[in-house]
Amino acid sequence: MKSLLAALFPCDCRFCQASLFSVSRLPVCSSCIESIKPIEFARCNVCGDRLSAANAAFGDACCPECASEGPAFERAVNYGPYSGVLKQLVHLLKYDRVRAAANLLGRFTAEACLQLEGDIDVPELLLIPVPVHKLRMRSRGFNQAELIARAAHRGIEQSSGRHLTLDLTTLLRVRFAESQVALNAEERRKQIRGSFKVASRERVKGREILLVDDVLTTGATASECARELRLAGASRVWVVTPARALARVTAGFSEESERSALGSASASSRNELLVSPDPLSSGAAQGTLLQRRGISSTYGEQRIDGHERGTRLS
Ligand SMILES: [Zn+2]
Ligand SMILES: [Zn+2]
Repeated sequence: MKSLLAALFPCDCRFCQASLFSVSRLPVCSSCIESIKPIEFARCNVCGDRLSAANAAFGDACCPECASEGPAFERAVNYGPYSGVLKQLVHLLKYDRVRAAANLLGRFTAEACLQLEGDIDVPELLLIPVPVHKLRMRSRGFNQAELIARAAHRGIEQSSGRHLTLDLTTLLRVRFAESQVALNAEERRKQIRGSFKVASRERVKGREILLVDDVLTTGATASECARELRLAGASRVWVVTPARALARVTAGFSEESERSALGSASASSRNELLVSPDPLSSGAAQGTLLQRRGISSTYGEQRIDGHERGTRLS
């Protein structure tokens, strides 16, 4: 009955309230969707986070964190910054449970996988969505990473020419995690330790794995999954997400690169990328502020807007 009503009376765009003239299971207008743009500026080749101008200039394309103690995965690729409409789309799926959003996120995920061409040299991959705990599964009714992986599955196979086997039973989440939103990178790593378990070593032994999640923030979750998988014998783990929370690196960025980084993000979502509402004039000043807030790295999710702290569950 509900879907019949929706078919007869198309609703407004959930993000910009523009009238929708065609009927779609995804209540988002085409101009909102078109505003989602890929990340364009210099990023770390391993974790995909934004590089400071100084690091980018050295040409090694690796952030200081990955250069010192890299994550357990080989490389994480993503489509767009976790802001604006892309962020709203993730929320639409995860919190408003509009499952149709997974199709579009899956398309972005498949497109992001193109960045892995040249890295992967095996004909077959195990496609594993980052699992949720069974309690979360019960309350939410689905695992958003699984829906995105399912939606991306064929697209990745078509564009890469590789065979992917979706696996939902090998990697398990054995510990229930509270929200990580208010934690810094180090605290996240500690909290997530031991949260996952590999049910069958046979299944992953010697295999290359493509891990899928909705958003990469510090990479702590993906890295912990990869650590478990590799302990169980997996050879290499790759990570793909439609969205990436990016560090705000002030020093050396031009107005133009700022603008392209923010894309069409609204004024309110711009603040998500900021460490503080005060504009920071230099990298040194930013470092001091980060330290004062107990943030030791340049990762992005500490900068998620205040009203979300502690209210969203991972
Ligand atoms: Zn719209
Ligand atoms: Zn990195």
